[in-house]
Amino acid sequence: MPEFQTSPGMRDILPPESTRWRRFVATFAETVTAAGYGQIIPPLLEDIGVFHRVGEATDIVTKEMYDFIDKGQRHVALRPEQTASVCRAFVQHRPATPWKVWYSGPNFRYERPQRGRYRQFDQVGIEVLGANDPYLDVEVIALGWNFFKRLGLRQVHLHLNSLGEPENRQRFVTALQAYFTDNIERLSDASKTTLAKNALRVLDSKRPEDGEVIAGAPKISEFYSDAARLHFETVQSGLQALDIPFVVNEKLVRGLDYYRHTTFEFVGGTLDSAQNAIGGGGRYDGLVEDLGGPATGGIGFALGLDRTLLACDDESVFAATQTSVDVFVVDTTGGLEALVITQQLREAGISSDRSFENRSMKSQMKAADKSGAKIAIIIGSDEVEAQSFVLRPLRSEDQQSTIPRNELMTSIMKALS
Ligand code: AMP
Repeated sequence: MPEFQTSPGMRDILPPESTRWRRFVATFAETVTAAGYGQIIPPLLEDIGVFHRVGEATDIVTKEMYDFIDKGQRHVALRPEQTASVCRAFVQHRPATPWKVWYSGPNFRYERPQRGRYRQFDQVGIEVLGANDPYLDVEVIALGWNFFKRLGLRQVHLHLNSLGEPENRQRFVTALQAYFTDNIERLSDASKTTLAKNALRVLDSKRPEDGEVIAGAPKISEFYSDAARLHFETVQSGLQALDIPFVVNEKLVRGLDYYRHTTFEFVGGTLDSAQNAIGGGGRYDGLVEDLGGPATGGIGFALGLDRTLLACDDESVFAATQTSVDVFVVDTTGGLEALVITQQLREAGISSDRSFENRSMKSQMKAADKSGAKIAIIIGSDEVEAQSFVLRPLRSEDQQSTIPRNELMTSIMKALS
């Protein structure tokens, strides 16, 4: 075994697998750019305070952060997610609202690695800051939905909930706290610990022994104000108008205090239940304010790239593609011809490759075949002497031809068109 390997929970994405990572982000970019979203590229590293604002009570922030003191004695962290950075950027740059942005890239969380859960994982996402319209919630959800459809996924389920307005949520949390405290003996030890910090997160527990207590817990819908109910109903009727199927899942509460109204999760139907969320998001308030800006409503989602690709594997869609070139230059003379011609081809915008180390004709033809090239240019010492080269079609029954040097580029372009 080599001395150095990737750290636990971190992976190399090699070709051809990496081709679909790039296509994934490109497809996402197309989907959201066509809806008026601009790209934000925040740094990977921020002052740790930015992430502390995301939620002091979440595992992401309390236990899983990759943080350290830099050489300037600043306490910094690798980002565990990107919403906080987007809000920090909003406060820093004060763009006009509504501000619609999308992002992509890696995040870092010190979690227990397993299939679909990594310490470095990629997300794509969008955020809209400065608009409270429930139809914006529908737009955001629909963009996530459309994207999964574009990937070809069929088994994606949308779970939807509303946390109501902050006062509704506060009364709900108080009721929940009282209920779980009354039933504390029936909770798992882990949930007892969670209860001491945040009663809402007990609802997230997937431990079987907590199931019965959770099933009997108060429901957020019993606490909605009229305005909260109307917002939620408007979102649901918008989704129905777009024929986007959803289930209301009252257990879908995000543990963070600043979430309000709509929350949602995209669930991959083929994945193991512990790691089946392929994306999630919701409407939030107060995050921009916590970071020093004006009170600003926001909504967004983040989709997990790594996990969505596992769902694509399960459904046999969005496969990796072998990259190929159009032309392969076979040169058995060991001279400068392959070097110069390959350069000319590339300058003319024709993808091309060649062999090195003066391999045999047979070996170079093998490489040409593997490269996926449609045409091989074959150069031997006779051809160099005559200054005309052989063009051999590799994927058709067409006959090879001999082309004078000065007609090479035009002939190739014609053959490829
Ligand atoms: P979150 O930022 O926790 O709401 O996560 C949004 C999405 O990112 C999830 O639905 C997952 O698809 C993905 N995700 C979160 N954490 C991880 C992880 N450790 N490894 C892989 N994917 C993750």
